[in-house]
Amino acid sequence: MRVAFIAAEAFPLAKVGGLADVVGSLPLALTKLGLEAEIYLPWYQGIEAKHIGDIEYLFAGQPEAGALGEAWHRGVRVVLLGHPDFQRERLYGYPDDVARFMRFSCMAYQAASGAGILHAHDWHAGLVPVLAHAAGGRQKTVFTIHNLAYQGRWNPGEFLAWSGLPAHYLQLEGLEYRGDASLMKGGIVYAHRVTTVSPSYAREILTPEFGEGLEGLLQKHQHKLRGILNGIDTSYWDPSTDPHLPSRYSANDLSGKTACRAALRTETGFNQEGVVLGVVSRLVEQKGMDQVLEILPPLLRLGCKLVVLGSGEPALEDSFRLAGEKYQGQVFFRSGHNEALAHRIYAGADALLIPSRFEPCGLTQMIAMRYGTPPIARAVGGLKDTIRDGVTGVLYSGGQSANLLAAIERFLRLDQQAMRLAGMRENFSWEYPALEYTAVYGELSTSRVGLTEEPNSPGQRE
Ligand code: ADP
Repeated sequence: MRVAFIAAEAFPLAKVGGLADVVGSLPLALTKLGLEAEIYLPWYQGIEAKHIGDIEYLFAGQPEAGALGEAWHRGVRVVLLGHPDFQRERLYGYPDDVARFMRFSCMAYQAASGAGILHAHDWHAGLVPVLAHAAGGRQKTVFTIHNLAYQGRWNPGEFLAWSGLPAHYLQLEGLEYRGDASLMKGGIVYAHRVTTVSPSYAREILTPEFGEGLEGLLQKHQHKLRGILNGIDTSYWDPSTDPHLPSRYSANDLSGKTACRAALRTETGFNQEGVVLGVVSRLVEQKGMDQVLEILPPLLRLGCKLVVLGSGEPALEDSFRLAGEKYQGQVFFRSGHNEALAHRIYAGADALLIPSRFEPCGLTQMIAMRYGTPPIARAVGGLKDTIRDGVTGVLYSGGQSANLLAAIERFLRLDQQAMRLAGMRENFSWEYPALEYTAVYGELSTSRVGLTEEPNSPGQRE
């Protein structure tokens, strides 16, 4: 069975957050189980790949041609889809992102026409299940929600013009959302199966608190929704082989971790006293880092130090930069994406702070535990599915910064060495989640599955 992963990110070629880790590592785990999995990715600026030909596809009712590239990552084929719109400094954050990723979806749909299953990820690829449905629904589609907060909404007129879809796809049971077309909604409505990245998030998004306005729709499609916990690439995230670390270590011998802790303190200008709390995160409202800023003075009074690696909202970056200047020797901030420093923080910090308002799965807590660094995290989504409170880390309830501070105080009273070792012994590999995905694909390939409660449209169903 050939499965085509269609996504806007894939590690190591293009990464902003956890989406890249998942798309970059799950296909490899699937190939180990005997599936043929490949990845379809925009050919962003700077990606080195072999030009293998051109592709013709339809966009806005016109035939267009784009370049096809090929790269291999650990035995998995990555197909790159080239268009001038992808040749920009950043992956996202442009006013025409919806047009860019609708074009990408059209290209990927065309390029992956031979695959048995199209596995589309997040709103960027949400058009793919819709196109498959409009073409008769023969190709089976899976849509994975990595983060419901980003939905890819656009005005209906241009959506219809660019996609070439008939107008009935914009009815309320289709892509229409508060007067716009929503690509996230397209994926949810038209895919044969919808998955999200943890069992808790699969339940949470059925409620108004976490459903981002789509909870009613998700309830309606609950019969095809499943939460499958993400794994991490345990051979890449491995403190016993990690080339980014000054010393390597395992649960059997933590002396290398002691060296990593000392090295991080030297690098950040900290002395060797007190507990170092780490942050590796996108700096956006979801991640709750404003609360870390709020509790900074009491945190420092407790003798803690803070090292933050992150990029995102300019106001948050500025606040952390100012804190780093004001509290030199106690607070260290580095902005931007820095793979090597992220590894050194996972290994060298004493705990990782994750005060997320919501967290579909979260990978940083799993990476931290694998590196013997207990996470202190809010009990939401995948955080509560992966952290054992008081055993491998600290989970807390309540959305106030005082709750975070109390959790840190509790961490300071716990047996940190025992937590480090317990975390390192957890199994966060893709082995089991990959089996769950193969079960989803298997259901689709062996049964004549259609969309139950299918929207009222002339698209054929099986
Ligand atoms: P999200 O996908 O919401 O950003 P996750 O916890 O699922 O959060 O995944 C975050 C991934 O991005 C992890 O691999 C983490 O190490 C990485 N990451 C986040 N910020 C940075 C950064 N500034 N530099 C390097 N890696 C980062």
